[in-house]
Amino acid sequence: MKSHRKYLTFHVEGRRGFINITPKVEEILAESGVTEGLILVNAMHITASVFINDDESGLHHDYDVWLEKLAPHEPVDMYRHNVGEDNADAHMKRQIMGREVVVAVTEGKLDFGPWEQIFYGEFDGRRDKRVLVKVIGE
Ligand code: ZN
Repeated sequence: MKSHRKYLTFHVEGRRGFINITPKVEEILAESGVTEGLILVNAMHITASVFINDDESGLHHDYDVWLEKLAPHEPVDMYRHNVGEDNADAHMKRQIMGREVVVAVTEGKLDFGPWEQIFYGEFDGRRDKRVLVKVIGE
């Protein structure tokens, strides 16, 4: 069995943002040489997510509005976590949007359903954060 591991680093200038990371994941899959197996992609920070959905800007705006309703950033003092920091909302947004995705690899390609793309979701940006990509298979 082959195994290949790589880190991706993202730096979102604002507090929040969504990035389509599918092309970077496909590059790592290609260099792994794996044609049948699984690929795991996970955020290594507890205020960022990796998730699969549609690459449609209206939907990304809707996610942002929805997450802000569920866990508003402000007032920051409504959260007990925010003693010396202000990112309690980002931990909650990450929990809802998820830590990782696993995608089947078939004939050397990501075996997606219609419109599926992989996204990095940032909820407390302005610093470098890593995503782990691990490919296993034959
Ligand atoms: Zn925190």
